[in-house]
Amino acid sequence: MSNINFNNKKMKMSPKIKDYSWILVPIIAVGGLFYPKLGLLLVPIMGTIMIMGFFTGKFWCGNLCPHGGFFDKIVAPFSKNKKIPQVISSRAFKIAFFLFFMGMFSIRTMRVISLWGSLYFLDKLGFIFAFNYLMPTIIGTVLALFVKPRAWCTFCPMGTMEQLAYKLGKTLGINKKTDKKVTSLAQSKCIKCSKCANMCPLQLKPYLDLSNTHQFENENCIRCAVCVENCPVGILTLATADEAKKITESSESVA
Ligand code: SF4
Ligand code: SF4
Repeated sequence: MSNINFNNKKMKMSPKIKDYSWILVPIIAVGGLFYPKLGLLLVPIMGTIMIMGFFTGKFWCGNLCPHGGFFDKIVAPFSKNKKIPQVISSRAFKIAFFLFFMGMFSIRTMRVISLWGSLYFLDKLGFIFAFNYLMPTIIGTVLALFVKPRAWCTFCPMGTMEQLAYKLGKTLGINKKTDKKVTSLAQSKCIKCSKCANMCPLQLKPYLDLSNTHQFENENCIRCAVCVENCPVGILTLATADEAKKITESSESVA
């Protein structure tokens, strides 16, 4: 039986862009309150999230996201690191929060659109973006401190948007060559220690949920590779569907 405890702070994590991009959090969320145009930096960020989501699933969240980096690097050392309650990681909560967040964002943006052409337009628009960045910063930091560093990421509206883009990319079948998922190189060597699940920032359980080609298909996976780097027998990697097929075929031919 598994011994999952989801409470292990001693994880190995190789350096990533998010280790530096977190600096954008105070710049946009706090700086944007005083210099609202800083909030407009979120326009290219949101565009990048959508495009990357289309091709690589939630890779942005695990490797580039400023909020993700802020929670992992700045807040994590002070986190109580508890189990994320099922209610906030549920699909229903994620959808409800997404609709609420996008609804509020749309209403505020529509109000500002009426100022198009005026001197204040960009400041007002930037302020909306900055405020919408401050909200996840506050909620996410509270959750990171008292629950788990990446608790916010289980229902983050940007992550949900990225996931929707990913679903579209998958449906159109055009991200097969770019979509790298957690893959087991030799499932027979798995010692069922559950370390990959214990270390996963989102409490996913890759070793219990692999496809026929030994890939972890869970769309919530942020491709952070923490499970890969912490598997004691080194059987996990990130691979595309084609690479996984080759791995499976070669392991079958060896057996
Ligand atoms: S399953 Fe692995 S790659 Fe995916 S989120 Fe969890 S630790 Fe990261
Ligand atoms: S995949 Fe690796 S870390 Fe996960 S249960 Fe198997 S041996 Fe343990």
